[in-house]
Amino acid sequence: MTVKKVDLGHEVFANCYVLIDEKTGESAIVDPAYFNEKIATVFKDAGVGNLKYILLTHGHFDHILGVHGLKEATGAKVVIHKDDADFLLDPDKSLANGNFPEPQIPVEADITVSDGDELFLGDEPIRVISTPGHTMGSVCYELENDRVLITGDTLFCMTAGRTDLYGGNESMLIESLKRLIALDGDYRVLPGHNRETTLERERARNWYIRRMVK
Ligand SMILES: [Zn+2]
Ligand SMILES: [Zn+2]
Repeated sequence: MTVKKVDLGHEVFANCYVLIDEKTGESAIVDPAYFNEKIATVFKDAGVGNLKYILLTHGHFDHILGVHGLKEATGAKVVIHKDDADFLLDPDKSLANGNFPEPQIPVEADITVSDGDELFLGDEPIRVISTPGHTMGSVCYELENDRVLITGDTLFCMTAGRTDLYGGNESMLIESLKRLIALDGDYRVLPGHNRETTLERERARNWYIRRMVK
């Protein structure tokens, strides 16, 4: 599977990733924070043709504000954990109010996922790992065959997501991080903000993880 970060052109937006199964051309976009014609071209240039899924790591505005437009333009299925699905309908939950120049347009989830669910691009599985804490419905997406973990605002390079927003819970975040670091072997970690890292590096150096395992 090809995995690429695409630049949506604004620092407030979360990292947006494109996943493409080379064999079938089926693709997914993770956390599109913005969408317009210019960004449609950015996705096209990144190789997105047959868009199957819009995968959301959680429901915050900086990850979802492009969902409505992208779904309208492509007919792709919107995927989010069941506990964050109502963020797509409610700017008070997504924190879209006052944080962004454009209003949130409500959009229904097409597929609400739970821990252990699998989605496929061609034959390539994308496994959902439920990692509540930053929000109740935060998830990571594991691309097992490529050893990639897309971590949203749960695990970042050297730190972890905040837990003081609506639905946040620190003890749940700690349990979620424990679960991630207990995965076998190394992974390329693609977080929702800042730069990419690896699971091995975060096991060793992440200050939040080091503090919580003491
Ligand atoms: Zn974020
Ligand atoms: Zn967030």
